[in-house]
Amino acid sequence: MEIITQNAQETQKLGEKIGRDLKSKPRTLCLYGDLGSGKTTFLQGLAKGLGIKRRVVSPTFVFMKQYKNLPSAEPCFSNNPSFYHVDLYRVNNIKEAKGLGLEEIFKDPKAIVAIEWAERIKEILPKKRIDIYFDYVSENQRKITFKK
Ligand code: ADP
Ligand code: MG
Repeated sequence: MEIITQNAQETQKLGEKIGRDLKSKPRTLCLYGDLGSGKTTFLQGLAKGLGIKRRVVSPTFVFMKQYKNLPSAEPCFSNNPSFYHVDLYRVNNIKEAKGLGLEEIFKDPKAIVAIEWAERIKEILPKKRIDIYFDYVSENQRKITFKK
């Protein structure tokens, strides 16, 4: 699926819609694209769709931010799902990325994980994931391509 959004708000709305649909089936989203191509903007909408009230900012300097205890679509006996926003822009090597404990998080069925610059850890990405490519078209247009 390929969509061209006409402004940042449209990208957020698209993320929000995907976020609402994700709630019942937690999974991994991998985001690819240059700086300014709209990955974080999309994830701000996604977080909203997941029921996160706080504003999502890029975790560039901390690599990863966890938003705990999302409202769940299913009845839960233990914890509600968590959303992990990962930004690997400043990660220098796979070892540093592994240090984040991502492999454990991928195994957690209650984790929803979104990774900016996911190509930096392609060796450890789960096979079951959604790949989303972001391309700059013009100042206010971005092409967003989904691959399963
Ligand atoms: P990335 O996380 O990929 O580096 P950001 O989402 O942080 O990108 O930044 C995208 C920038 O581009 C924002 O300043 C946003 O307002 C702007 N922008 C303009 N048009 C769009 C669009 N159609 N979709 C997403 N962002 C857009
Ligand atoms: Mg970003």
